[in-house]
Amino acid sequence: MSATLTLVRGDITRQSADAIVNAANSSLLGGGGVDGAIHRRGGPAILEECRRLRASRYGGGLPTGRAVATTAGDLDARWVIHTVGPVFSREEDRSALLASCYRESLRVADGLGARTVAFPAVSTGVYGWPMEDAARIAVETVRGAETAVEEIRFVLFDEQAYAAFAARLR
Ligand code: ADP
Repeated sequence: MSATLTLVRGDITRQSADAIVNAANSSLLGGGGVDGAIHRRGGPAILEECRRLRASRYGGGLPTGRAVATTAGDLDARWVIHTVGPVFSREEDRSALLASCYRESLRVADGLGARTVAFPAVSTGVYGWPMEDAARIAVETVRGAETAVEEIRFVLFDEQAYAAFAARLR
C-alpha cells in the first residue's frame, strides 16, 4: 500500500480529516476518553445515528474488532468511524482483534471513499493496552493493509504515546 503515515500529538476531535476514528465501546452509546470527546464536540447527530444503528444492524452492539461509520456531526470531518478495541488481557492474546480494528476501519474508509483517516491509539486508555505494543500492532497493521486511503494519521494524546508511535515509524 502507498498511504502516507503521519503522527500528530493532540486532541483527535480538533483534527481535520475525511474520517476520524472513534475508540468506541460496543454499546455505541458513548463513553469516556476519545468516545466522550467525540460526542461532546461532534454534537448530538452522531449519537442519534448510533442509536439508529443499535435499533437496526447492531441490535446486540458492535462486536469487538469491527467498525461502522456515522456522520461526523460538527467535527471537521465527513465521517466518524466507530471501532471497538479489545480490553487488554494478560491471559489471552487479543492482538488479532486490535489489528482488526485498524484493518476494518480502513475497509470502511475505503467503502466511503475517504482519503485521509485519523486514528487514536485504540485500546490504550480505559481498555489498558500497553502503549508500545499497541503502537507496534497499529503501525504493522496499517502498513500491511490494502487501502486506497492516502494519509493515515495517528493522533496521540500525550508525549509517551507520541514517542511509542514515533519509534515504530522510524
Ligand atoms: P479505549 O477504551 O479503546 O482504551 P480510550 O478513549 O480510553 O479508548 O483511550 C484511547 C487512547 O486515546 C488513550 O491513549 C487516551 O489517552 C487517548 N485519548 C483520550 N482522549 C483523546 C482525544 N481527545 N484525542 C486523542 N486521543 C485521546
